[in-house]
Amino acid sequence: MENLKLYLAGSWREGGGERFCSTFPADGSVNGWLRAASLEDVELAVEAGERAWRDPHWRSMPGHQRAAILHRAGDLIAARLEPLAELQTRDNGKPLAETRGLVASAAATAHYFAAACEVLEGELPPQRSREVMTFSTWEPIGVVAAITPWNSPIASEMQKVAPALAAGNAVMLKPAEATPLMALQLAAIFEEAGLPPGLFSVLPGKGSIVGDALVRHPLVKKISFTGGTRTGRALAHIAADRLIGTSLELGGKSPTIVLADADIEQAARGICYGIFSSAGQACIAGARLFVHRSVWRPLLDRLLQLTRGLRLGNPLQAGIHMGPLISPQHRQSVADYVALARREGGEILCGGEIPADPALAAGNWFQPTIITGLSNAAQVCQEEIFGPVLVAMPFDDEETLIAAANHSVYGLAAGIWTRDVTRALALAARLEAGTVWINTYKVFSVSTPFGGVKQSGLGREKGLQGLRAWMQQKSIYLATAPTINHWSD
Ligand code: ADP
Repeated sequence: MENLKLYLAGSWREGGGERFCSTFPADGSVNGWLRAASLEDVELAVEAGERAWRDPHWRSMPGHQRAAILHRAGDLIAARLEPLAELQTRDNGKPLAETRGLVASAAATAHYFAAACEVLEGELPPQRSREVMTFSTWEPIGVVAAITPWNSPIASEMQKVAPALAAGNAVMLKPAEATPLMALQLAAIFEEAGLPPGLFSVLPGKGSIVGDALVRHPLVKKISFTGGTRTGRALAHIAADRLIGTSLELGGKSPTIVLADADIEQAARGICYGIFSSAGQACIAGARLFVHRSVWRPLLDRLLQLTRGLRLGNPLQAGIHMGPLISPQHRQSVADYVALARREGGEILCGGEIPADPALAAGNWFQPTIITGLSNAAQVCQEEIFGPVLVAMPFDDEETLIAAANHSVYGLAAGIWTRDVTRALALAARLEAGTVWINTYKVFSVSTPFGGVKQSGLGREKGLQGLRAWMQQKSIYLATAPTINHWSD
């Protein structure tokens, strides 16, 4: 099978690194072979990026012209929604219903940041002198590195690439090794949309080789990373050493809370979606469930009923709720956590196994699993499993609940289910999380900042702050009166 080409330094070429392939996690079939970027490819791409962002044509391009490129890219993505969603499903095994949403979100992100870079206004600080006017301009940072995970490639990649380009930077995108296909599609789309060559390169390959070379390159001036906390911390060390900025979207172990007055049907459905969509392979998955003891039985009964009804199957087929996990190794890690939960004294209310259905034998499926009988201190409540595993715990009073919900190294998201909005807002204020959903879960808006607290990350993506994060300020002092400085008299 012919190797897919990489897009770097403004042209399509074969990578110089080792050969690897993208596979369909449902049956292990090969989607495409390619060669990883080599260290020379990284060098070439970064240097081309440096020339491209400094090019006077790009540097002086007004926001509305950069916006036009992004709008075209957004239109192209929207026009290719179906084939892109299918390719994304083949690359990481998420059901089509979900990948369609990811592609639509990537298009919306392009349009949002296009609009934002056209209308973003500066502000004049209060003037402190009649003789000197002061103001600040926003400038690009230069060559920036975007490093992404395998779970939602097109959406998480566009979340970095669109604002970084809108801000005038050159972007080096290092997709996850398992999922290089969408990044290459994005490169083709930006090329077609008229982005000047060199401003966007896609460098697939191993994090420890390609990613490492990128973040250590002296011309790379910012790292934006989404992935595991351990890798994020290592990158933060490198960035600290190099004195460059980082933005980190890391892991999570998000609590969802059902208060006594919650609408049980609404809560059960939202919780089921919040943990089992994407087969739990989401940093924001609602993995710890706290239910007020007065509604424990009805909530659990309904949740179990919904969970047992979930359809596992080929993610390319309609009506499938859960596709396979990304790899056999990852499934093993999920199974190991369930075994650990058993050893810790947990009771498996449903799931807990690799499905026996022969139709699923070729892929990496794992049953949606609900565990009870554990406290929040259990290891399976403290560590991110990144799979379809929910631990449910009853609570009696709000103070104990808040202490338990916040007892986590993570702080990415939280969910609250109640009919009492005032109480929900008071609770939201006390939860240590970057995002709190009330009577809903895992819904997103590109205009609303996203990110974590504690070990879930640093910085925010999306929203206007998500654009500013790719810029740096320069302050200008302009003499407005012909005064002479007499110091040297
Ligand atoms: P996961 O998303 O599976 O938790 P990682 O956090 O390791 O895994 O991976 C997220 C992204 O970070 C991937 O693109 C991966 O290749 C990249 N990566 C992993 N290790 C490094 C590293 N040492 N330097 C730079 N990038 C890395």
